[in-house]
Amino acid sequence: MTRFLLALAAVLMLALSGAGSASAQETQKLKVATRVLEPFVIDKKGELTGFSVELWRSIAERLKIETEFVFANDVPSLLELVKARQADVGIAAISVTAERDKVLDFSQPMMDSGLQILVRGDGGGGPENPLAGLLRALFSKTALIWLGIAALLVIIPAHVVWWLERRHPEGIVPPDLPYSSGILHALWWAAGTLATQGESMPRSWLARLFAILWMFVGVIFVAYYTAQLTASLTVEQIQGAIKGPEDLPGKKVGTTKGSTSAAWLQEQRAQVKTYEKIADAYAALLNKDVDAVVFDSPVLLYYANTEGKGRAQVVGTVFKKQDYGIVFQRGSDLRKRVDGALLAIREDGTYQALHDKWFGVEGK
Ligand code: GLU
Repeated sequence: MTRFLLALAAVLMLALSGAGSASAQETQKLKVATRVLEPFVIDKKGELTGFSVELWRSIAERLKIETEFVFANDVPSLLELVKARQADVGIAAISVTAERDKVLDFSQPMMDSGLQILVRGDGGGGPENPLAGLLRALFSKTALIWLGIAALLVIIPAHVVWWLERRHPEGIVPPDLPYSSGILHALWWAAGTLATQGESMPRSWLARLFAILWMFVGVIFVAYYTAQLTASLTVEQIQGAIKGPEDLPGKKVGTTKGSTSAAWLQEQRAQVKTYEKIADAYAALLNKDVDAVVFDSPVLLYYANTEGKGRAQVVGTVFKKQDYGIVFQRGSDLRKRVDGALLAIREDGTYQALHDKWFGVEGK
């Protein structure tokens, strides 16, 4: 009897442990490296959501995977977590690049993307309004130089005309006036003539000859000044505006550390400022610490349509196309399974629904 009981207990234990190992096989617990990057990964007071998070959750559900998220501050450290086996998988908005592909494996493309430019609402550091541009032109160094030239162009002819006219009874300088007040009349005349507004003319023939010459100088001066002013205002407007990648060299541009955008900007001779969080790059743009932000198009468009609405805008078309992928250790057998789930999710409409939810029906 005791033997029978013992045997029964042994059988029961075997059966139980068997069941136990079967259920352990069924749900696998994985560490998933990610990083907060709206709208792909959103941390809503400790609760994770976003396109990539929801996509991963539906993959995990299909594969019966239990997920533990681990966070990285930037893309290079996210990739490093996976490489160093501190995480099994990585998902955020990770661009597939040849260099990353050398040391890690990537899933099927998870979404297509590319780079775009975000500028302030005013169009990227140009004059805020025409009045600001005009004030700048009026109080610039060049304006001072022009003022100096104009002063000389008034003082010199005023003296010549005063000298020639000072004795003429009906001349522009009333007779018998001392220099100190006589010259004021002459200065008034010279200034009027320079601005092509002369209202009275000298009476002595020599002074008249001189006045004719001086009127021409006045016309040329005004024409030349107008041309210069127009040119410098136009140049300022053109230089201030960032409309596409070709306007970026020399500009202060913000992006995230170790991103594909940072690598691209280095090649463009832009003054690159990198931040861990893309939100810090947005703040730098609004504070005028940088003139533009270059980053993944869907991320910028999401910001420009939500929090950044009215304060920042996306300009130009998408350049430097790239795909997002889920990342694994080299040779990981997880990849095949995740790819299978990703394809199934695309085929059954789950993917489309998620895409529409986060990026709008037209993929804005
Ligand atoms: N797509 C970018 C990259 O992989 C994202 C960078 C980031 O998450 O900051 O480089």
